[in-house]
Formats: sequence, C-alpha cells, structure tokens
Amino acid sequence: MSERKDLEATRKLREVMGNYFADLGRGAAEGKKTAWSSSVGPAELLWALGFNVYFPENHAAMLGAARMATELIPLANARGFSPDICSYLTSDVGAYLKGESPLQKMKLSGPPKPDVLVFNTNQCRDVKDWFQFYAREYGVPCLGIHTPRSIGAVDEPLVDYVARQTEDLVSPLEEAAGARLDVDRLREVVGISKRTTTLWKAVLETAANVPAPLTFFDATVQMGPAVVMRGLKEAGEYYQALLAELEGRVAAGVAAVEGERLRIYWEGMPIWGKLSALGGQFMQLKTCVAASTYCNSWIFDDLDPADPFSSMARAYSSIFICRSDDRKEAYMEQMVKRFKIDGILYHDAKTCANNSNNRYGLPQRLHQALGKPGLVINGDLNDLRLYSEEQTRTNIEAFVEQLLQK
Ligand code: SF4
Repeated sequence: MSERKDLEATRKLREVMGNYFADLGRGAAEGKKTAWSSSVGPAELLWALGFNVYFPENHAAMLGAARMATELIPLANARGFSPDICSYLTSDVGAYLKGESPLQKMKLSGPPKPDVLVFNTNQCRDVKDWFQFYAREYGVPCLGIHTPRSIGAVDEPLVDYVARQTEDLVSPLEEAAGARLDVDRLREVVGISKRTTTLWKAVLETAANVPAPLTFFDATVQMGPAVVMRGLKEAGEYYQALLAELEGRVAAGVAAVEGERLRIYWEGMPIWGKLSALGGQFMQLKTCVAASTYCNSWIFDDLDPADPFSSMARAYSSIFICRSDDRKEAYMEQMVKRFKIDGILYHDAKTCANNSNNRYGLPQRLHQALGKPGLVINGDLNDLRLYSEEQTRTNIEAFVEQLLQK
C-alpha cells in the first residue's frame, strides 16, 4: 500500500508551533495581557498592541484532531448549548468545563486566560456567542466587528463600515492592553501578515502542478502558522522553507499521491478526527485531493501596510464564507480549472451550516457550468457521532469509480 510521504519541513513545523504555544504560556505567566481572537478577526491590531494572541478555533480543531471533542460536547449541551450548533463551540466549552486541553501535553495548564475577547461575525454568529460565554465566565470585555453575510461586491461603503468598526475597537483595546497603539507598529504587523499569507498561497498553489506535491490532508496540518501566527515573522520563515521543499518536489516530479490518476476539490470543513483515515483512503485510490476552500481561507491578498484599517476590512470581508453564492460559484469555477480538478467533494457538516455549501443548489449549478461531478458526504468537523465512516468510505469509492469511467 502507498504510504503518506511526510514533508521534511514538518519537523520544523512542530518546533514553530510548539514555540508559539510556549510563548503564550510564558507571556501569560509573566503578566503579558492576552487577547482571544476569532480566526479571521482583527488579529494584527491585537499583536500591534502587544497582546498574546490566542485563537479558540485552533484549540477546538486540536480537540477534534485529538478525538477528544465527541466526549466533551455533551458537557456544553448540559449548559444549554444545543447539539445542533457549532461543534467547535460545544467541544471547546466542554473542554473548559472539564478542565481538559490538548495544550496540557505541551506543559501548559490549558488556554491562557483572556483579558479581552475579540470576534468578527464575518464567518458566523457562533463565534460571538462562544466568546460571550467566556467573557461572562472570566468577567472581561467581549468586543467585535459585525460584518454582513452573503456579500456580493466588496465595495467602498462596506469596507468603510467594517474599517470604522475596527477603528472603534482601538480605544477599548488600548484600555485592556494598558498601552497606546503605535500605527507604525500596526503597519509593520500588517506587512508581516501579508508576507505570511502570500507565502501560504504560494505553498497551496504548488498543488496546481500534476502530480501535486501536497494534498489537502497535508495542508490541514501545514496551515497552523497561517491561522495563529500570521502576524509573527516566524510564520513567513517557516513557509519559505516549506515552499522551497515543495518546489523541489515539483522539479523532481515527486507526487504526494503515488501514481496520481484523479484530482478532487474538497469543499467544506475538514473532519478533524478522520483526516488520517480519509487521507489513507484517497492515497489507496491514487486520488489526490489537490485543493480546498478551507485551506485557502487564510489567503488575504488585500492586506496592505500602507492602509492598515481599510485593507484589513477589505481582506476580512472578502473571505469565501461571507460571500454570496454567485461569488462562491465564480471562485470555485476558477479553482477547479486552475487545479485541473476532476470532481468536487462537498462536506455537509451538520453543526456548521456556514461552511456547508451544498444546501442551496450550488453543487448542481457548478455541475451544469463545469460538467464536473460532485459528491456530498454527511459528517461534522468535530462531532464524530454525526459521521458514518463505513458509508463515507463506500460513497468515496463509488465516486472515484464514476470519475474513472468518465
Ligand atoms: S464557521 Fe462554523 S465551524 Fe467556524 S466557528 Fe462558525 S459555526 Fe463554528
């Protein structure tokens, strides 16, 4: 059976991420203020103000990947959070209530306590409810940006609306930080984020080559620094090294999936607790999941240090999840062409309607436009009770057969 080919850089990745978490723990112990941010929140502003920046969604994904989530969710359900809402939220709240965290394996007692929580509703309302729970628990402020959803054109009035809300955060954040914002430092952080995100994009784009040197399953591991460290220069340094390794693979014709014969696009959330099993199945089927919406969600082309507030507003209002279906379709059409995709797999995640794009006829419209077949699999990001492994394996096998016959 074909084996997954580990990337050399991954050893360095463990070190880079380990240092990030160690710094979080050390910073908190030394009295540095901590801000919690939603994954596409105004993190650059928080770094510029000198906060430790911690991302609960990353913690929740770790709970999923470590297969701790399913056991923890009922604890949050008992506190009134429905089993039907975001299982990142319910598993993270469950972990808090039980006092468990994958960070304990890294010698941290758990997530660092927040001094302030900052959300952006560009992705969903759940992050706001999630952060407000902790604000009540810890007695600290919860601030946020309310971005509209289903956005068509990201035009000037919209950018101004979001940029003004971001500027309005400065004063309460200065109070929580006990420091004044230095706009030059903000420009510097936005510049670092821009470099990180540009390199991350280049990493993902290596998979447009046939055969692809990395898969979606590799990318879900490699994306950590792009999510939690994008404003720290170590993230860019890491992606520079990873990109060099991938370019070496491309030059040498090294395939991530030996004998690659089909290429799939993954639309929707990862199933964190089943990444390795699914990656193994696609490897066996000589099918490369070459691109995804999810991993591309941390590409922010619009960041511009010369105009930090407006460019953050534009970048964070342009992400796939908050766009209208016609924009999503146009984006996926160009991705399918660019990555030479044979078929699209849609993950309908039971507890995240926001990241499940199969529910309003989009697969049918894309099939008509592109002639590329689609498969919907039912599952969830973190709650494995909502996922049937056997049924999914069978459906994927049948889908690959169908694509091969085509
Ligand atoms: S986008 Fe989905 S998975 Fe992410 S926080 Fe919102 S509801 Fe949860």
